[in-house]
Amino acid sequence: MNKKLTGKLASVFIASSCLFSGIAFAHSSESEKEQPQIMTKVQAGFYHFQLGDAKITALSDGSIGLDKSLLTNVHEHKVDKLLKNAYVESSTVDTSVNAYIISLKDKVILVDTGTGGLFGANLNKLSISLKNAGYTPEQVTDIVVTHFHGDHIGGLITDGKFTYPNATLHLNKKEVDYWLNQDLYAKAPEQGKKFFKDAIDVITPYIKSDKVKQFTGEDAKPVKLFDGMLAIQSHGHTAGHTFYEIESKGKKLVFWGDIVHIPQVQFVDPTVTIKFDSDAKQAEIQRQKAFADAASKGYLVAVSHMPFPGVGHLAKDSGKGYQWIPIPYVNNALGK
Ligand SMILES: [Zn+2]
Repeated sequence: MNKKLTGKLASVFIASSCLFSGIAFAHSSESEKEQPQIMTKVQAGFYHFQLGDAKITALSDGSIGLDKSLLTNVHEHKVDKLLKNAYVESSTVDTSVNAYIISLKDKVILVDTGTGGLFGANLNKLSISLKNAGYTPEQVTDIVVTHFHGDHIGGLITDGKFTYPNATLHLNKKEVDYWLNQDLYAKAPEQGKKFFKDAIDVITPYIKSDKVKQFTGEDAKPVKLFDGMLAIQSHGHTAGHTFYEIESKGKKLVFWGDIVHIPQVQFVDPTVTIKFDSDAKQAEIQRQKAFADAASKGYLVAVSHMPFPGVGHLAKDSGKGYQWIPIPYVNNALGK
């Protein structure tokens, strides 16, 4: 990575990382009655659909409350108004953590891996969802991750072992160069170090065991990973944040990763950013570009933190915002 960019991102990260740790996906300290109710049973956590010849399965890792105060570049009164309009009554917004399986030809590709053990027991349900969807970890041939935050890579390791023992991990070199950079790790403030430590702990064993293929390239210039699948670099949220695009029989789906965290606000006003963004201005640019492209071309998108299964279309609304149109829930296979 270019040194100037690394330095710039490092300073942004260091400036924001105090806010990161501890409140990343944390509940607010507001009154008890405002806390979301914890469910006593696990929900069904998979959803299948077809995209041309590809079978796509959305997998839930669970959900957690994201505090509205994490949003930036917006006045809090506006946030309150938009959340009220969306019937969100607490200061935390229920947020899904989604991952996806693409089954195409001889490949079973996992897009993001959930939190693993990094965010507590209210998440970490990806393995249950995978099993219920009819897949075993051994069947996964390839893994791609949109970026190295713990809620996307944590599930790569379970109890010190590779969760998906037969899989090759495909990584954006820019993301590797940032999060595995010992200088940046050393310079990060105490609270921010966990993000580097998690990435180092999870990714290093894969690199040492020769299970990693790294790709390089420039922003917005697609890199072919497999037949029908492209990696599209989209730095902003992190230094090497990446979209993945799959196309089959003229149908297109783009996995967007962390382009949206609180949709009730960020679809209405895509200029709103979040403290998790390494480079908020660039993250905003990527969001505006991606929203406009999806709305004008009409392809499907899959989004890590949209309400499960997090797959839908976008339509431009009459102002500067967008409307989310979730895919229909179809459950018409023969029952018992
Ligand atoms: Zn995320």
